[in-house]
Amino acid sequence: MNISQLIHRTALAHGERPAVFSGSQLVCDYRTLEDRVARLAGHLREHCGVQSGDRVAIFSANCVQYLEALHAIHWAGAISVPVNYKLHSKELAYVLENSDARVVCVSPELRDSALEAGAQEADLLVFGTTQWQAAVSAGERLAMQDKGPDEVASLFYTSGTTGRPKGVMQTHRNLLAATMAYYTDVDDVQVHDAMVYAAPMSHGAGLYNYAHMLRGAKHVVPVSGGFDPAELVELAANVGHLSLFAAPTMVHRLVDHIRRAKADVSGFKTIVYGGGPMYVEDLRIALDTMGQKFVQIYGQGECPMTITALGREQIADAQHPRWTERIASVGKAHACVEVRVVDADDNEVPTGELGEVVVRGDAVMAGYWANEAATASTLRNGWLHTGDVASMDADGFLTLRDRSKDVIISGGSNIYPREVEEVLLLHPQISEVAVVGQRDADWGEVVIAFLVASEGARPDDAELDALCLDHIARFKRPKAYHFVDALPKNSYGKVLKTELRTWLDTPT
Ligand code: AMP
Repeated sequence: MNISQLIHRTALAHGERPAVFSGSQLVCDYRTLEDRVARLAGHLREHCGVQSGDRVAIFSANCVQYLEALHAIHWAGAISVPVNYKLHSKELAYVLENSDARVVCVSPELRDSALEAGAQEADLLVFGTTQWQAAVSAGERLAMQDKGPDEVASLFYTSGTTGRPKGVMQTHRNLLAATMAYYTDVDDVQVHDAMVYAAPMSHGAGLYNYAHMLRGAKHVVPVSGGFDPAELVELAANVGHLSLFAAPTMVHRLVDHIRRAKADVSGFKTIVYGGGPMYVEDLRIALDTMGQKFVQIYGQGECPMTITALGREQIADAQHPRWTERIASVGKAHACVEVRVVDADDNEVPTGELGEVVVRGDAVMAGYWANEAATASTLRNGWLHTGDVASMDADGFLTLRDRSKDVIISGGSNIYPREVEEVLLLHPQISEVAVVGQRDADWGEVVIAFLVASEGARPDDAELDALCLDHIARFKRPKAYHFVDALPKNSYGKVLKTELRTWLDTPT
């Protein structure tokens, strides 16, 4: 089934419901939204020559036209290629070439970058231009194209903290499974709810539109086009019932703002976090500040947002004897997938032991676009190999230790950076931390910590050493502490450990 059925059904049954908002301003209802989508699909077909199965890229920061473009592409039976708008034009050029995109839907301010990346003027569809307005309001409606569940709906280029990006083939079945999984394992959606797109729509946040389309809920695009804590607080007050997806670093900033501003949080419904580790100390403060509003998900482009979830009740259940372990975990398998932890030969490891996370089920990608070798090595024996190292407890809660490539091997012992990071964050003057390995002639690698101090004095090395020695084995203690103003992050808020390692390898 074509995933755009979701928008169509809501438009038929509840066309008058408010659909899209720019900030607190209503832009259109569901009937209008569906009509604009069908006309834009007609334009893609008639004027841009887009046929079923063609790739159409979207290169834009969050904006209301994003949703129209995304659904028009599905509606026309084409394959959407959402591109991170912060990519360099050389990186965009790679994605456009690799996906062989026929058309690029682009926001006006990124038009030149798209041209620099090699897109032809004639292949650009620029948001908000006269051509765009004519297409969405007066173009011929196209009948929604038939799509089988295993046909590709979207190519998601992995954020590429290492190596060249690969196009993950997400099928209509994958997107539908992820949508259903939102209701079963993340949050039920009611008609008065509002999804605000504070994180990039080209990534996981955009995926949450489908669950909100089917329920006829509101879609709110912040006027800033991104993440601004003060703006979110204002939207929560004005629109209400606000849910959002946020990387842990964004949760940290939002909570910090709310604490300082003593802001009212009653307009927030659910904050779904994931995409990177949320440290226990940060979560405690978040719960203390905002209450029972948090749900965690663990996923990756290859199984979008849908590997495990840690529900709001479990997060808030501080009385549970294993609460601390549970909130440090990523929760339990989503209903539509099986999750296992395996050794190098794909045998399941005993409870509590470390291994690689593998996943099987309806949310798992069909493979990588035009990359059979990568597909074969990632989808082995019928299971998606995530590259994440974790253990599973007797109750089925999965705790991620690290990406397998992030493990530090020092003097023959494996050290998982996250356990060192968790300890350093216990210090009240440490706001952010990232631990990496540095090559070392004697030890193979040594542990190095990069830290961002919160306001006030910086703790000295002896103090940090003492903190580590209090909590973890001596050999895991960092050999050096480097204070920085900010950690390098990609546009999704993930710390770029590769960059930190490069800093260490660069002679000064
Ligand atoms: P991406 O494909 O860019 O979404 O990156 C997916 C990767 O982010 C996963 O393979 C994990 O390494 C990491 N990740 C995703 N969700 C979480 C989470 N809740 N906690 C820790 N790491 C996560």
